[in-house]
Amino acid sequence: MPKKKIATIWLGGCSGCHMSLLDMDERILEIARLADIVKCPIVDGKELPEVDISLVEGAVTSDEHLREILHIRKQSKLLVALGDCAVMTNVTGMRNFFPLKDVIKTSYLNAPSNDAQGSLPSHPALLKLHEKTYPLQEFVKVDHYIRGCPPDADTIFHVLFELLHDRVPDITSMHTLKYG
Ligand code: SF4
Repeated sequence: MPKKKIATIWLGGCSGCHMSLLDMDERILEIARLADIVKCPIVDGKELPEVDISLVEGAVTSDEHLREILHIRKQSKLLVALGDCAVMTNVTGMRNFFPLKDVIKTSYLNAPSNDAQGSLPSHPALLKLHEKTYPLQEFVKVDHYIRGCPPDADTIFHVLFELLHDRVPDITSMHTLKYG
C-alpha cells in the first residue's frame, strides 16, 4: 500500500490536542509506517502540500485562521476536527460571551502582570481577530470529529489508523469525552 500523507495543524487552540497526539507514544511509529507527516507544529513545514488527512486543532479566531482553514480544506482529501475547540469552540469560545474590545482590554491592560503599565498588542495578526470564534464546520466541510479536551490518544490513534486503511472509523465504543 503506498504511503499516505498526513498534516496536523494548530489554529486557535492551546496545543493540548497535539500533546494528546504525542500521547499515542510508540504507536506513532505504526502511523509512520503507513504515512508521512508532511506538516505538523513539530515538523515545521512551511507549506501545506496536498494531503490525504489533515487533523486540525483549534477554532477559527482571526482572518489568518480563516485563510488557513480554507487552504487546508482545499489541500486535504479528509479533514478531521481534532478536539473540542475545533468541534465547537470550547475554551477558545469563552470569549464569545463578551465584546472583543473588552476581552482584549481585560487580557492586556487589566490582568495582573509584571508589566505595571500593560499595553495593547500591536502585532497585525492580533488586530485582525474576529469578533467571535467559530468551529471549523462554520466555514468548511469536516469529514470526521474527534471530541474531547484534550481528545483521548486511543481515539486519535483509532481514527487515524482506520482512515489510513481507507475505512470509516467507528468511535461509538471509544472514550470520546475526555476532559483534563
Ligand atoms: S480542545 Fe482542549 S486541549 Fe484541545 S486546543 Fe482546545 S482547550 Fe486545548
